[in-house]
Amino acid sequence: MRKLTLTFLAAMLTASAATAATPMLVIHGGAGVIRADLTPEKEKLVRADLEAALKAGYGVLKNGGTSLDAVSKAIVVLEDSPRFNAGKGAVFTHDGRNELDSSIMDGATLRAGAVAGVHHIKNPVLLARAVMEKSPHVFMVGEGAEAFARSVGFEMVDPAYFRTDERWKQLQDVLKSEAKGQKAALGRMIHYGTVGAVALDQAGHLAAATSTGGMTNKRYGRVGDSPIIGAGTYANAKCAVSATGWGEYYIRAVAAHDICARHEYAGKSIEQAAKEVVIDLIPGLGGDGGVIALDAQGNFTTPFNTDGMYRGWVDKDGKIHVAILAD
Ligand code: ASP
Repeated sequence: MRKLTLTFLAAMLTASAATAATPMLVIHGGAGVIRADLTPEKEKLVRADLEAALKAGYGVLKNGGTSLDAVSKAIVVLEDSPRFNAGKGAVFTHDGRNELDSSIMDGATLRAGAVAGVHHIKNPVLLARAVMEKSPHVFMVGEGAEAFARSVGFEMVDPAYFRTDERWKQLQDVLKSEAKGQKAALGRMIHYGTVGAVALDQAGHLAAATSTGGMTNKRYGRVGDSPIIGAGTYANAKCAVSATGWGEYYIRAVAAHDICARHEYAGKSIEQAAKEVVIDLIPGLGGDGGVIALDAQGNFTTPFNTDGMYRGWVDKDGKIHVAILAD
């Protein structure tokens, strides 16, 4: 009887410890914000979108929902906004199409899902999640990913849904400089607006997700880091990361996983681990960008080596914060 009571007490303690984690949510809306492009009107709208995404995701966490649901919800808000390079408002490929990539990872189970090169999916993050939950696969691309989407009941949207005049103009500008042979002008400025989220739920479980249209003027079929598990997105029991930046370099650095590995195996704080990859390693290779990274204790960091990175978080007291430039 006494043993039973003790077992019961121990179970109760475990249960309360399991629900004790303070929820955390951190999001980004892409690195590569150009200081000169940031008009007060644009800043206001972007801030409102980031706040709406934080509210949507944090609402899930506060009500005891999962980190997976929180990152999905936050990203859907940003995909639906025309101001970010994901879902509506995605950048254009060289031949004038929108090709969308996304991925999601559940830190508690190491399950993951990803899609790349889709043209008719309103919320690519939800398709990445469906690949994880409703298929035996992790990563599906192009027509196969869209056929799978139809088979699990996704509604297809006309590709025109993703178009915004601003993105179209950006492509035309880049094509003009390319025609003039200004190749050096490309690269640094043509990626931004990717969206991502990392969350810690009350059960102490982490999740991460990322969604993007990639880089303006990319050749069709080009896939960046965002849908690649380990490069643009990674989560395990101790760490969750979503990246944004020049995808080719983030892939080569296996950035998201490398940050988690440095944190877990080398005992580095999440801040130090992310700094080593984003600030010390990737710029040395010639790349740029940033990450949001969160550990299982709720510590997080948002390093970047561009002018700015749209970002926001909800602190331990439930207060919403949004930031754009480095200062
Ligand atoms: N990382 C994305 C890509 O290379 C772009 C970005 O984050 O802005 O596709």
